[in-house]
Amino acid sequence: MKTIGLIGGMSWESSLEYYRMINELVKLELGDLHSCKSIMYSVDFAEIELLQHNSQWEELSDIMIHAASSLEKAGADFIVICTNTMHKMADDVQNKISIPLLHIADAVSNEIIGMRLKKVALLGTRFTMSQDFYKGRIKDKYGIDVIVPNEEDKNVIHDVIYKELVKGIFKESSKKKYIEIIQKLIEQGAEGIILGCTEIPLLIKQQDVNIPIFDTASIHARAAVKYALEQ
Ligand code: GLU
Repeated sequence: MKTIGLIGGMSWESSLEYYRMINELVKLELGDLHSCKSIMYSVDFAEIELLQHNSQWEELSDIMIHAASSLEKAGADFIVICTNTMHKMADDVQNKISIPLLHIADAVSNEIIGMRLKKVALLGTRFTMSQDFYKGRIKDKYGIDVIVPNEEDKNVIHDVIYKELVKGIFKESSKKKYIEIIQKLIEQGAEGIILGCTEIPLLIKQQDVNIPIFDTASIHARAAVKYALEQ
């Protein structure tokens, strides 16, 4: 089994899910007392959030590179960044380490292709929905059409993430708002919904939506375990 190097703490609410899932999946595959070999580098999210909202992406890139290099030195065989947003620096990180980085958008795209969907909607932080590093990769590398909410709805999705979900607050009223936004995206032709923020799956479940949802945290965790157990 390879050792997974997890960059976590963004937020720890979702890192906890990653840790639980990778261990459950290894147990499911190997049985008995097996658990997942992993090392986690967990950051202080308050520092990260401040830099994100001040658009200090170079500083953030340095933090991610430092985390990934530390995990490599500690013996990780590959890197998993446990957040969608911080994949903005995925290429910078990959260029500075000599072990692979398992990109969350690649894992998600493979699932979408497996379901033969052509057009999906993306929910996430404003950074993930508005910038090109995530939806551009899905479009250019996999030929999948990606739509996002309008500006007003983007603000609702973003604010709920930073004011509630990353703090472990899950409100029925926010869930209702998310479902209304998802409904609009379905009316615009979305055949699936990417929950492109690792905390959204803690609020929205498959039974809340009548088209397929793509839970990026669990898809990423599954891809990581598959890679860790490959010969
Ligand atoms: N976990 C979230 C994501 O998947 C947001 C937190 C962050 O900004 O990293 O994008």
